[in-house]
Amino acid sequence: MPKKIVILGSGFSSLAAACYLAQAGHKVELYEKNNTLGGRARQLKRDGFTFDMGPSWYWMPDVFENFFNDFGKKASDYYTLEKLNPAYQVWFADEIVTIGDTLEKIAAEFERIEQGSSQKLQKFIDKAAVNYNIAINDIVNKPGLSPFELVTPETAIRVNQFFKTISDDVRRDFKNEKLVSILEFPVLFLGAKPSKTPAFYRFMNYADFGLGTWHPQGGMHEVIKGMIALAQSLGVEMHTNSAVSKIVVKNGVSQGVEINGSFRESDIVLSGADYHHTETLLDKTHRQYSEDYWKKRTFAPSSLLFYVGFDKKFEKVAHHNLFFDTDFDEHARTIYDQGVWPEEPLFYANFPSVSDSSMAPEGKENGFFLIPIAPGVEDTEALREQYFDIIMARLENLSGQNFTNHILFKESFCVNDFISEYNSYKGNAYGMANTLRQTAFLRPKLKSKKVKNLYFTGQLTVPGPGVPPSLISGKLTAQLINKNN
Ligand SMILES: Cc1cc2nc3c(=O)[nH]c(=O)nc-3n(C[C@H](O)[C@H](O)[C@H](O)COP(=O)(O)OP(=O)(O)OC[C@H]3O[C@@H](n4cnc5c(N)ncnc54)[C@H](O)[C@@H]3O)c2cc1C
Repeated sequence: MPKKIVILGSGFSSLAAACYLAQAGHKVELYEKNNTLGGRARQLKRDGFTFDMGPSWYWMPDVFENFFNDFGKKASDYYTLEKLNPAYQVWFADEIVTIGDTLEKIAAEFERIEQGSSQKLQKFIDKAAVNYNIAINDIVNKPGLSPFELVTPETAIRVNQFFKTISDDVRRDFKNEKLVSILEFPVLFLGAKPSKTPAFYRFMNYADFGLGTWHPQGGMHEVIKGMIALAQSLGVEMHTNSAVSKIVVKNGVSQGVEINGSFRESDIVLSGADYHHTETLLDKTHRQYSEDYWKKRTFAPSSLLFYVGFDKKFEKVAHHNLFFDTDFDEHARTIYDQGVWPEEPLFYANFPSVSDSSMAPEGKENGFFLIPIAPGVEDTEALREQYFDIIMARLENLSGQNFTNHILFKESFCVNDFISEYNSYKGNAYGMANTLRQTAFLRPKLKSKKVKNLYFTGQLTVPGPGVPPSLISGKLTAQLINKNN
């Protein structure tokens, strides 16, 4: 029976769920609190510059392709993809390591740094490819309802990989600290320290070195635009400036939502807004998870972000640049163990205009900078400025160029903005980490245990943080709704 379904939020997960539910014949209305769609993947446009406000790494192109294929479409119907070469650069104190667009090129770079490492790398990536196939074709497509979902013939013989960590695995094969950092980097997308992330997630290394780093021309927001066009073609109604202030429940069944003082009735409510926030829209008796529950979870980091327009092009910088010239473990400790600002932060610098001229006016450079920080840390203008100066000094010193004198404008985004813009718990940037205790059926549930016809999707649910998992999450919730109705 077709149902009327109200969806909160317009991030990747909400848009994906909206498309699948509309395709199944339901009447879908989507409500976003902000004035533009896309959730954390919103776009900032200023003086001819285009910035992706959140995600910028397009990994796992197969997941995006599968999404559009489910609707008889291709990603290329909506945007043009380019494989980046180099995929990215890693800046250490004494050299830049270049990650090329093929495993052969990367292996040669590894061999240059540690003799004998290229062969080990090939084996490491072969194993990662096997895990990738198990994960993407099977594990991540499970709705997280029961522990038995994880038990398959393939996982049963790899059970030790859920109890060992990525760090153990990488350090067993590679001794050079630079190579260790590079191989540990991909799991940072999953939100936890490599020493807390199960070795099974090494499939992220295949996503990195095996599948490569891609760029949609015009930026990641082009994917959102494609999904909006698809949703519109399927009849989804989308509303901005529409913060849901209450989920109305009667006799344990959701009835609809309140928005800007008026009631929108629906058979089903699905929230892609942050899980903790969504539960605060319910009376306490209808919430599944206590404040204590949330306090004890490991959240992905928050971030200090800068969007900067520069009046010239720069040498040496690539599209994606990781600044790993300070102590990786020390920075991770400040995020996960101490909850304080790092003294010498690692950071990420994205110059999309290096490979995509549409992202900045001619002869100018678009710079996006990200420092991962602990969720919930104090956020003041003075602190933001202090850290901007720190990373500019490092960038200038390592690249031998002046950046500061070429700034046309700069905008920042940090903990307070994550809270006010996205209702994010403690200002986390990308949800809850994929640690062993927060994997699969151990994550917050897609279906409320307390309120009938209330569902959840997004980076705090299964399978976890990141754009590809959010797309999959939207599909999983839509499947669950279709199955139950
Ligand atoms: C800075 C940054 C960099 C990242 N980099 C990458 C990357 O390079 N690659 C990658 O794969 N992933 C990256 N991620 C992670 C990725 O962006 C997220 O995992 C994904 O976009 C989350 O999608 P979502 O649908 O779960 O939630 P969101 O995108 O957060 O969408 C939730 C939406 O709900 C809305 N909302 C909240 N409360 C209400 C309410 N009461 N009523 C109505 N609407 C409401 C919010 O405004 C928001 O639009 C990054 C994230 C950040 C923040």
